Amino acid sequence: MKSLLAGAHVVTMDDAETEFQDGWVLMEDGFVTGVGAGAEPEADERVDVAGAVVTPGLVNTHHHLYQTLTRARAQQATLFEWLVELYPTWARIDAEAEYAAARTGIAELMLSGCTTVFDHHYVFPRGRTGLVEAEVQAAQELGCRIVASRGSMDLGVSDGGLPPDELVEDIDTVLAETERLAGALHESGAGARVQIAVAPCSPFSVTGRLMTESADLARRLGLNLHTHLAETVEEEAYCRELYGCSPVEYLDSLGWLDRDVWCAHCVHLSDPEIGRFADTGTGVAHCPTSNLRLGAGVAPVRSMLDAGVRVGLGVDGSASNERSHLFHEVKQALLVARGRGGPQAMTAREAIRLGTRGGAEVLGRSDIGVIAPGLCADLAVWRTDGLELAGAADPVAGLVFAGVDRVDRLYVGGELVVQGGALMRADESEIASAHRTQARRFAP
Ligand SMILES: [Zn+2]
Repeated sequence: MKSLLAGAHVVTMDDAETEFQDGWVLMEDGFVTGVGAGAEPEADERVDVAGAVVTPGLVNTHHHLYQTLTRARAQQATLFEWLVELYPTWARIDAEAEYAAARTGIAELMLSGCTTVFDHHYVFPRGRTGLVEAEVQAAQELGCRIVASRGSMDLGVSDGGLPPDELVEDIDTVLAETERLAGALHESGAGARVQIAVAPCSPFSVTGRLMTESADLARRLGLNLHTHLAETVEEEAYCRELYGCSPVEYLDSLGWLDRDVWCAHCVHLSDPEIGRFADTGTGVAHCPTSNLRLGAGVAPVRSMLDAGVRVGLGVDGSASNERSHLFHEVKQALLVARGRGGPQAMTAREAIRLGTRGGAEVLGRSDIGVIAPGLCADLAVWRTDGLELAGAADPVAGLVFAGVDRVDRLYVGGELVVQGGALMRADESEIASAHRTQARRFAP
């Protein structure tokens, strides 16, 4: 069936930065088959979204969905203090709680215009099964794409790491589980709904051997690689003391920096390190709200973009943001870039680009992030007649400056999964209620 979205201001995010006022988007079998303005093509269904702005669906490049269970804790803590306080609570995670947490975080993300969710799960208490499967199930039920990851930690406190020993695993278990999940769940090719990435947690919770063997496994299986990097000054000091180099130099020495890798945060990168990211094609998940919430600093995103580094946006963990609202990160990225570099440092359209096409590039996806024929029909439709955009001369910039709160319609693979700002396949109050029941088990 051919569906036509008509009467909108369409922001394609293509190479030419094409926008169509009074434009239309034609969809068929999950993909965009045409986009333009003026004379409308034939369609079986015409949806009039007059006055709305249509952007590509947003792509989230860093998250920990399970952390919705433990929000507003360790309120004045640095990253390391925050982690040490929360690890013992996270050790109670099981598939039931993970499912409730994932539904909550994914629902929030979808209502903020997100059509592809990456999640970095690295807490695997011994004997608990089905954690990654639970979040994949949540995404499939709500109708959103997911890139889930088999994260890992094997450097416990007794070996000089940060996490408690009860939360670390042995290397063989990690690698075998990662390969099993990839075999069971990973799809490749255009339109993939579920993918698996390999994601050892961080330099201070993973041994060099697991980092190296994870990279070997990912490259053998054709999966992308992800980790946290250069988030705080404490991490920098930790790496210098333990490894005698900066976090980026450490990762480089392990053979990680390459086109199949993206790293979360990268707040503390020197200019030569930014150059190294650009030369190797290594991507960055910029998580401005989380970095501010934990007082970690502000990533030098303008310099990264000028150097040609791939950059996307992430809401990061729901316990250090505490929202899973990706469009708020679009606004936040603009604000922190300007806080560092002045009002010229980022335009509103550049900020939207980071949240859409930038994220797709970071995840190695050429089938999403842009509205163009042949690409997935993943679209966010934003109303412009609400209070927050009243008087906005440029509705596209207005969305960003206002930090618009809720998408009106969301299409994933051509399917309408949000309409009128409400989920189509689930009831948001039921999701919140089920989450409250689970979150009680994690109360302090
Ligand atoms: Zn994170």
